[in-house]
Amino acid sequence: MIPLTSLREQYRTLSSHLSPAIARVMKSGTFVKGPQVAEFEHAFAVYNRTRYCIGVGSGTEALVAALRAIHIQPGDEVIIPAFTFVSTAFAVMTTGARPVLCDVEPTTLTLDPALLASVVSPRTKAIIPVHLYGMPADMDGILQFARAHGCVVIEDAAQAHGSRYKGKLAGSMGDIGCFSFYPSKNLGAAGDSGAVITNKKSLADAVRSIGNVGTNTKYTHTVVGINSRLDTLQAAVLCTKLPYLTGWNRKRRRLADLYKNLLTALPVTLPAELPHRTGNYHLFVIRTRRRKALQKFLTEHGIETGIHYPLPLHKEPALSVLGYKNGAFPISEKAAHEVISLPMYPELSTKDVRTVSLHIRRFFGHSKLRKKHIHRP
Ligand SMILES: *Cc1c(COP(=O)(O)O)cnc(C)c1O
Repeated sequence: MIPLTSLREQYRTLSSHLSPAIARVMKSGTFVKGPQVAEFEHAFAVYNRTRYCIGVGSGTEALVAALRAIHIQPGDEVIIPAFTFVSTAFAVMTTGARPVLCDVEPTTLTLDPALLASVVSPRTKAIIPVHLYGMPADMDGILQFARAHGCVVIEDAAQAHGSRYKGKLAGSMGDIGCFSFYPSKNLGAAGDSGAVITNKKSLADAVRSIGNVGTNTKYTHTVVGINSRLDTLQAAVLCTKLPYLTGWNRKRRRLADLYKNLLTALPVTLPAELPHRTGNYHLFVIRTRRRKALQKFLTEHGIETGIHYPLPLHKEPALSVLGYKNGAFPISEKAAHEVISLPMYPELSTKDVRTVSLHIRRFFGHSKLRKKHIHRP
């Protein structure tokens, strides 16, 4: 069985570091606002080269806190891609504002800046690009549009720890960047948690007080707070793991290169290679019209796959209230029919990548790996 993702080997490698870090927190009894929280916030800000980082309870809550910090409220509109994880939309709806969907680039499946003009309105207050699968969105185009229209840019970098756009880290280019440390993300905690990064002190202060149930008395706030803090235990786990993130991402990219090499000349769309955009391969997603049959074939051969995501947002039942029609976002709709995520995690062996690729070639009637591929590292 080759899993889509696995955390077992990572734990085997790190257990001798994780156990004492966890024990230290347990002994201290400081489960909320322990010193490890500030330590991680500092380290993650340094990693992303931003001035501030605030730990929160999840990636979804990072988005909610960011939206509240910029005073998004009922009557406002926030532009988001039509193809993303539902949290991006739910976070906007939590504030009472309306998520306005926009279609994505056919190559990267990230928010298409060329389409923003067709969905912007006088009520548009913010734009949330999502670095989907770890592939950075076209930030130059999005930022340029946002500046011209007076919109705040909140990056949903929940899948993009360490991804780069023109050398800059995902999450650090807009006004606010939001991260998830859901266990299977490229940097994952032992449960739920997330973080917000920014270079603006006013936004950092606002996010911190919002996430801390409004108990930061130094700050006068006009928005209602929530309880969304980074637990000390999760911070200790994240402090232990952060130094490995760069190496893990490098391994993912190497495995992605191998996949691309082995899957050439098949009727599948491989992840885009673009100058200036270095993804972290949170997911390795290919596209094929024969997705259903391919998934069945791979399952029968012990290979787990995923669908991220089977529905574009406007077809999600919970979002039918937005009133979009079928056909409104053709690129997103086509993607939702065709995407299939292949096994991808840093400890995945090159042997397993070969096995998966060989089965995909077989499925498409290319029975063998070409010799030069078989011996590649
Ligand atoms: C994971 C994810 C989120 C939500 O993060 P949680 O920590 O699960 O709340 C938001 N947006 C995207 C794109 C994600 O992948």
